[in-house]
Amino acid sequence: MRPIQMVDLKEQYLHIREEVDAAIHQVLDSTAFIGGKPLQDFSSNLAAYTGARHVIPCANGTDALQIAMMALGLQPGDEVITPSFTYIATTEVVALLKLKLVFVEVDPALLKLKPVFVEVDPQTFCIDPAAVEKAITPRTRAIVPVHLYGQSAPMEALLDIARRHGLHIIEDNAQAIGATYTFSDGTIRQTGTMGTIGTTSFFPSKNLGCYGDGGAILTNDDALADKLKMIANHGQKVRYYHEVVGCNSRLDTIQAAILDVKLKRLNDYIAARQAVAAAYDHAFAGHPAITTPKVAPGNTHVYHQYTLQLEGVDRDGLQQYLAALSIPSMIYYPVPAHRQRMFTDLGAGGEDLPVTDWLTKRVISLPIHTEMPAEHIELITSSVLAYIEHTKSQS
Ligand SMILES: *Cc1c(COP(=O)(O)O)cnc(C)c1O
Repeated sequence: MRPIQMVDLKEQYLHIREEVDAAIHQVLDSTAFIGGKPLQDFSSNLAAYTGARHVIPCANGTDALQIAMMALGLQPGDEVITPSFTYIATTEVVALLKLKLVFVEVDPALLKLKPVFVEVDPQTFCIDPAAVEKAITPRTRAIVPVHLYGQSAPMEALLDIARRHGLHIIEDNAQAIGATYTFSDGTIRQTGTMGTIGTTSFFPSKNLGCYGDGGAILTNDDALADKLKMIANHGQKVRYYHEVVGCNSRLDTIQAAILDVKLKRLNDYIAARQAVAAAYDHAFAGHPAITTPKVAPGNTHVYHQYTLQLEGVDRDGLQQYLAALSIPSMIYYPVPAHRQRMFTDLGAGGEDLPVTDWLTKRVISLPIHTEMPAEHIELITSSVLAYIEHTKSQS
């Protein structure tokens, strides 16, 4: 049996090796490493796949978020509502923009974009619209929902709040590319295409991952697309004529060529992950100590992570027990953003978020990827169940 991994990138590569190698060699032969046809092809193919009008490729998912906030013209003091239960990048960019301006700014009152953390729904791990509504102040400009672990945040409610309060929505879609959301009128849309801007990451372990770093920004707004492109390219539309402060954030052509090969298989990859999740669900169904991931009605879940919640189980003990059997597992995320020193040192964070704190203590993510053999799933589920049974009989 090959070793169990959280994500098996090697096995996936072996299945698409010829096509990927040919795509890479084509770029090597052209020596056009920046820009060019593979980049345009991938961008338009991703636009067609997601249904977004514009796809602007960039260097990574964190840059995508930063460029989105820059393009929306968020100003010093503006508040951005975001979940605390997320990967740090979602919230870090808010503080990062502030730090950048500290470089050029002298007025300490201009310590700007302030993340306002709100609770998530304990069933789906996504941002809670009621909590968002409560957190809105006259300084609120944007909401950044995260489609955590692979399913959509409750976008209809969030879009309604945004409309009523004149706010932007930036969807952090780094974990859910290809997931769908159903509105009450039956309209189905892909995550990342419903808000003002959607951002995603092509980090190798993401559901659509390249072989290095990569990211993209999605929007349906033509003017905003121009601005996003300009900001990702040193604030220029015409070379050497820089209109606004931007950054340098590009997706390498080789990565775009690789991504195009994988995009064609994304639906198969999603189906493979869903099959693993279904097998896990089946094995753990009805267990009193285990809550399996809930899929909100109308959502499809693409299972970037398969995350259990444990009740009355020594989670760290379970993790060690699994590790001893060469079964990896992960805690996403052990420390919520509002408790990270990065923010508390800045005087942000420190909110009272009992649901978030509670979740960080009970979640555990199991291996899930596109090439998982049945015997891996069987060993993982039987080991988890054996540990819980064994420790229960001891206590
Ligand atoms: C991975 C991830 C990011 C950042 O993407 P990078 O490409 O690593 O910069 C942002 N948000 C979430 C939720 C992520 O999972």
